[in-house]
Amino acid sequence: MNKTTILVVEDDAPIRNLITTTLKAHDYKYLTAPNGEQAILAASSYQPDIVLLDLGLPDLDGVEVIERIRSWSNLPIIVISARSEDEDKIQALDAGADDYLTKPFSVEELLARLRVTQRRLAITSNEAPGSPVFVNGNLKIDYAAGCTYLNGEELHLTPMEYKILCVLAQNVGKVLTHKYLTQKVWGSSWENQVASLRVFVATLRRKLEPEPDSPQMIQTHVGVGYRMLKVET
Ligand code: CA
Repeated sequence: MNKTTILVVEDDAPIRNLITTTLKAHDYKYLTAPNGEQAILAASSYQPDIVLLDLGLPDLDGVEVIERIRSWSNLPIIVISARSEDEDKIQALDAGADDYLTKPFSVEELLARLRVTQRRLAITSNEAPGSPVFVNGNLKIDYAAGCTYLNGEELHLTPMEYKILCVLAQNVGKVLTHKYLTQKVWGSSWENQVASLRVFVATLRRKLEPEPDSPQMIQTHVGVGYRMLKVET
């Protein structure tokens, strides 16, 4: 029995019905809100596990809804945007959204995003907050010692690779934008730093991934950023 409760925020009734029908068929519980104000109210009164948030709402800007929810809660937010709203999607991720779906999306995509988010919830609830050790599949990071291991053997990373890996690990399951990553790593976000980021991620993958060309752990989101996926063991 799937006890995860999803708050579905969508003003477009046919899409809302498609989502809720899918959720029902897969034993999710759900609540719905047709606008931003009701979404904020529902998020605070019913404490759902995950929010599915359409960015184009009649009353509030979706980004504002994220900022307001983030003022008290870290609950996962998956945004839904139209293809023409690419900028909005990046802004939403910068404001604290975890993941995104682009319209039109399939039922399979929706379910896959929910599974990724549920895995992330499972890790964050299993791990003691502020745990000094991070484990994902064959990868282990000992934050206190500043060491990284792959299959039990120490990995030799450059300080920059290590820094990027730590930011990805601390946000496992979450899509991080180029801007977020470069600001965390360099303290600023210039176009040439985004280019450096690509280079460092490529060298990191060669050290981490058995097949760097089809990465299992560090996923690329073209034009958006990167995400570390929880590897199934
Ligand atoms: Ca809409």
